[in-house]
Amino acid sequence: MIAGKPIDKWIEEYPLIKELVETKEVFWINRNSQDQTKDNVAVGIEEIKEAETRLHRFSPFIKASFPETESSNGLIESPLVDIELMKNRLEDTYDCRIKGNLLLKCDNELPIAGSIKARGGIYEVLKHAEKLAIENKKLSITDDYSKMSSKEFKEFFSDYSIAVGSTGNLGLSIGIISAELGFNVTVHMSHDAKEWKKELLREKGVKVVEHASDFSKAVEKGREECLKSDTCYFIDDENSKDLFIGYAVAAFRLKKQLDRMKIHVDENHPLVVYLPCGVGGGPGGVAYGLKKVFGENVHCFFAEPTHSPSMLLGLMTDKHDQISVQDFGIDNRTAADGLAVGRPSRFVGQIVKKLISGVYTVDDDELFKMLALLVDCENIQLEPSALAGMYGPVQLSKTDDVSLVKLNNSLASGTQLVWATGGSLVPEKIMVEDYKKGKTLLHSL
Ligand SMILES: *Cc1c(COP(=O)(O)O)cnc(C)c1O
Repeated sequence: MIAGKPIDKWIEEYPLIKELVETKEVFWINRNSQDQTKDNVAVGIEEIKEAETRLHRFSPFIKASFPETESSNGLIESPLVDIELMKNRLEDTYDCRIKGNLLLKCDNELPIAGSIKARGGIYEVLKHAEKLAIENKKLSITDDYSKMSSKEFKEFFSDYSIAVGSTGNLGLSIGIISAELGFNVTVHMSHDAKEWKKELLREKGVKVVEHASDFSKAVEKGREECLKSDTCYFIDDENSKDLFIGYAVAAFRLKKQLDRMKIHVDENHPLVVYLPCGVGGGPGGVAYGLKKVFGENVHCFFAEPTHSPSMLLGLMTDKHDQISVQDFGIDNRTAADGLAVGRPSRFVGQIVKKLISGVYTVDDDELFKMLALLVDCENIQLEPSALAGMYGPVQLSKTDDVSLVKLNNSLASGTQLVWATGGSLVPEKIMVEDYKKGKTLLHSL
């Protein structure tokens, strides 16, 4: 029995589940999609604005502590680029026509953590650090926050600890920023998390605890241990509103970048955004922010590996964290480690269920193929997870669902945007292996 029903009952009710169980690629259109951001009280636009202001307050600290942010004045942001060559290559490789222009949001280049986690993860740690410092009368919000990089502050924060459970990249972002501030930080990881991520964290002085079971278990263990201490703060990937808000700030920044590129978004010039999805916070936060900024003119699709379609299962059945892919016999094994999540966030699922346009799944082999294509034609290196969004324009072009006719008609003068969620911290040796794997797969076509 799965959430009170046997599996064949589930399949009878939702035939798409059969294909998910067979780990086939699917494209699911969300019939409940409508712009509900106005009615949603879980997160207000003021809170996203407040987050943006807080990140500005911290920019002198960021600039002082991470020299790579010198040129952006301590702002953690990534480039937005046109990838027309890749668009052509996708069309050739997958025999399709991709409408409109194709852009890449390069979160793989985000400073400090090299992934989208540099948005939510770092924001939540900074917010917590600010709160502690203000409560203890060591800081006021009018101060120059560069003083937080001093020895005195490091000593102050060393009395506190931070813990997080992570498949990899969240651990990297939380670990790096927390260690820099001086916190004692513990990252709980599943045993199959990438070895290089664990090593990098240990180098930075982060305590890495490995758990034999999967991600959800790692999170549980981390939470339990942390709750035993009153100076420990647990960052909860499955339920954190601050993480979500940190991700949502991206939407304001993206609007400015589109303006600078003279790309207008309106009814006749829609914006379609493809976001790789793990537990849901990253893509959920970004999509939520985008809906606040562009309303019904933005259409967000989430992308998941065929072996970890947890958000899709959660949304389709409206059961969210009450069911997991493992319940249906799906193994949750994928090279896209950032997306290897078997059970989605209920908090995020409830928010995004009426605002995203759909979810599709992608086979791991396609991730490696697109990884190699992107290196060849644009010289951009991403980690496998980050390619999941690249499959969206291909999938959309092959979907003739009636509900998408209007969008498809206006898309020729619109924009498709692939959110590249990570890659710059991947060691060269592993990058080369991934590239070779992609090339081999492409040649065997
Ligand atoms: C974490 C991550 C995602 C997805 O974010 P969630 O909040 O887990 O949904 C996507 N891509 C990469 C590279 C990630 O590390």
